[in-house]
Amino acid sequence: MRRVVCPGSFDPMTNGHLDIISRAAALYDEVVVAVLINITKKTLFTVDERIEMIEEVTKDYDNVRVDRFHGLTVDFCTEHGINAIVRGLRAVSDFEYEMQMAQMNYRLSSVETLFMSTNPQYSFLSSSLIKEVAKYGGDVGGLVPESIAGKLHSRLAEG
Ligand code: ADP
Repeated sequence: MRRVVCPGSFDPMTNGHLDIISRAAALYDEVVVAVLINITKKTLFTVDERIEMIEEVTKDYDNVRVDRFHGLTVDFCTEHGINAIVRGLRAVSDFEYEMQMAQMNYRLSSVETLFMSTNPQYSFLSSSLIKEVAKYGGDVGGLVPESIAGKLHSRLAEG
């Protein structure tokens, strides 16, 4: 089975993430969306909430499943019999860091990294920018899945 992982924070998932995941799902037998548990990073949504949101949004993709991990992505890959990581590349600014990570991951475990160019519709999108815009009442419609926009506004309203 050709299995690939899409790792990330997904705090929260945007339509840019969803675009990459759905395109990967068309290429691979199974796509594992792996949510990083990083206790040192302050996030708006808990790991459980993020997983639940991604599961809801991807429920129509039979070959997408959602999991969590901490530590090295390559260790997650080894444990789950995965030999490739898919990452979305938005702009040249993403390239330097992503290239370095890809080379390190290959060096550590011979896990390949495949870069997928972002749909230009979403190339300016990041979870942090979405949170910033939503915080000040900006319209995030069409930029995050509808179910997530609702949860984002409620969470921000809680202060
Ligand atoms: P990380 O903290 O690992 O960067 P993110 O949740 O921000 O986690 O991103 C996870 C993956 O989704 C990365 O491969 C990232 O490049 C990709 N990604 C983020 N935003 C977009 C976007 N707007 N379009 C396409 N891919 C994206």
